[in-house]
Amino acid sequence: MRTIDGSGSDTGRTRLSVYAPEVVPLSLCDYIGEPACVVFFSGCDNACGYCQNSRLMKASEEHLIDLDVIEESIKRNKLISACKVTGGEPLLQPDALAELGRFVKSLGLKFGVDTNGTLPQPLKGVLPLLDLVSIDVKTALNEEAYGKITGTSNPCVGKVSESLSAVFSSNAYCDVRMVVIPGVNDSGEVIRSVAGSLRSLGYEAKACKGEASFTLAEFIPEFAFQEEFRKIRNPTSDELRSLALSSGLTNARVTHRVLGFFQKVA
Ligand code: SF4
Repeated sequence: MRTIDGSGSDTGRTRLSVYAPEVVPLSLCDYIGEPACVVFFSGCDNACGYCQNSRLMKASEEHLIDLDVIEESIKRNKLISACKVTGGEPLLQPDALAELGRFVKSLGLKFGVDTNGTLPQPLKGVLPLLDLVSIDVKTALNEEAYGKITGTSNPCVGKVSESLSAVFSSNAYCDVRMVVIPGVNDSGEVIRSVAGSLRSLGYEAKACKGEASFTLAEFIPEFAFQEEFRKIRNPTSDELRSLALSSGLTNARVTHRVLGFFQKVA
């Protein structure tokens, strides 16, 4: 469908619809160092037991909205210097993500995305538009451990590695983010395994230039998708700090409710 502007002229743009049920106009904690609006795309290829946004796992018809409506709200927003798309998994809607990215960049704003890393080809397509990629690492990069957390029989660990490698080679800032769940992925062995995988994929070269970080985030049981995860306690900030230090990675950070925001530990 072509877009017609208020004067009745054909603008030449194709109008896209997108599964995006929520927009937060201003967030100070979703885009590193920038006041940002956050657009939530729905639909995800994982079903993580700890998911905090399980209402967005399925893209349903009532989530559909014209991308123009979101773009207009961003254009009118004078408080922000960036836009971050999260989900769900935003790369399941690559055309809408790229179109939104081009629009955001045309306004002179920074553009970022949260991804679980399972879709390296769409990610590579949109990477030139991205200033920030926050990419999940759920646990040690092996199929069995990953399958347990992501709730899928095919957790695509090879594709997550491919996505990490692509982002480490790109110009975008990369925040590798791992939610720490006590008794599930909080052992020193898991952290050392994740750190070893990140090193072998090129993390250190990028982190040493100040273009990558490794963030250990607090698991928040109250919002977990599955009942069994809601019974697990949250980790303390000291536990997160100790694990971050044990990773030995440059620019290791933690985020926890008692800290209010990110804290650099190495
Ligand atoms: S935690 Fe992320 S990857 Fe996992 S189900 Fe939720 S939105 Fe999807």
